[in-house]
Amino acid sequence: MSDLGGIAKDLVARLRAADASGLNATLHWSDATVGAEAARVEALRGAGTVLPLEGMPVALKDNIVTTDAPTTCASRILEGYQSPYDATVVTRLRDAGALIAAKTNLDEFAMGSSTEHSAFGRVRHPTHPDRVPGGSSGGSAALVAAGVVPAALGSETGGSVRQPASFCGVVGIKPTYGRVSRFGLVAFGSSLDCVSVFGRTVADAGRVLEVIAGSDPRDATTVDAPPLVRETTPVSLQGLRIGLPAEYFPSDLDAGVRAGVDRVAAALRGMGADLVPVSLPHTPFAVPTYYVLAPAEAASNLARYDGVRYGVRRVGPAGDLPALYRATRGEGFGPEVRRRILVGTYVLSAGYYDAYYRKAQQVRNLIAADFSSAFAPGGVDLLLTPTTPTPAFKAGEKTDDPVAMYLADIFVCAVSLAGLPAMSLPAGRSGGLSIGAQLIAPAFGEARMIAVAAAIEAAIDADAEVR
Ligand code: GLN
Repeated sequence: MSDLGGIAKDLVARLRAADASGLNATLHWSDATVGAEAARVEALRGAGTVLPLEGMPVALKDNIVTTDAPTTCASRILEGYQSPYDATVVTRLRDAGALIAAKTNLDEFAMGSSTEHSAFGRVRHPTHPDRVPGGSSGGSAALVAAGVVPAALGSETGGSVRQPASFCGVVGIKPTYGRVSRFGLVAFGSSLDCVSVFGRTVADAGRVLEVIAGSDPRDATTVDAPPLVRETTPVSLQGLRIGLPAEYFPSDLDAGVRAGVDRVAAALRGMGADLVPVSLPHTPFAVPTYYVLAPAEAASNLARYDGVRYGVRRVGPAGDLPALYRATRGEGFGPEVRRRILVGTYVLSAGYYDAYYRKAQQVRNLIAADFSSAFAPGGVDLLLTPTTPTPAFKAGEKTDDPVAMYLADIFVCAVSLAGLPAMSLPAGRSGGLSIGAQLIAPAFGEARMIAVAAAIEAAIDADAEVR
């Protein structure tokens, strides 16, 4: 039986040390909330409740609402906002006996791939402070990698958990769209958004996902699929067919990344899997398609921050409502968020809608169809790819070049457009920097994907240099 007081005390010490180190991964936590969490779990235990995550500290990206802390989305515009309700995933974690440890730093409104677009300063990479931890869920990834918490929630719209997991050397799982409730996840791109999980190990991430998964009457896009039950005994990989999509292994792929994924492929082959070449021909269109659709949805979702209903309000001359909107939104949103709103508004406007938004929707279908044919009967069971084209890049390297930043998502955003489950797992190191390998599964195929990931995890030394 766990000593909850001791767990809370150690957790506070680790959070304090992480903050003191300048990691900048947390936005809100306090001694008092951690203590209250321990007391709450103690009471649940006293009541005899079954607690699958008893005493497990879990951090939350600060775009997931909680009643006992602010939710800022790392934006000035939400200053002073505190939710009157918990997100469904938070309720499920609390009911399972997890300790909500902290709210973590992110790119403003989850828009970014480096956590440099936070209004509260960038998150440092946990082992290479001059580099980025990835994004947008960089705070959650860094906190798990630094050993502060064994697991954390992030969110994915287009790779924001898998990409930072890869950069920080932890496990990141994005579930099937509809597997996990979005109720209480602040909306960015509603047709893409998925609460997703980081873990130090495949088992830790899997346990948390199992708890938060399931349909929710408060989110009509959740699906009443059979429950996600992990396979806890080692699975046989004999005859498993793993596809290697040619488009994810371009000739200019970083040599360390290629070596890491090759090592995973060799491990799979050694365990009896068949590695087969496949093609996902519409892959080159994934980044442009994503960067039309996600901003379009964001422009619509972020219209609610009008200076009237949430957070800050900058009042102009009396009676001038447009001036209030301009002042509040102009000051409240950072440059990347403003860019997305402008792009999104443009691609949705009369005269451009057909050329951009409608076209992108059509290409989205083609991208999803690529995956459907790869996974069709007689095809493959899973796909194996790199998670990112390079290891963690230097802070400041891409901040002046939005397109370079967007291209960091080249291997992660097709999956998001297709709504499929995928995960990044540590594959080794190149020059000390973590390399991530990505597994992609058919819709609702999380259990098998996680089991295969656990087999890979047991077969390789993810801390070893790959070349
Ligand atoms: N990097 C992508 C973007 O900036 C993905 C973000 C996300 O998944 N939340 O939009």
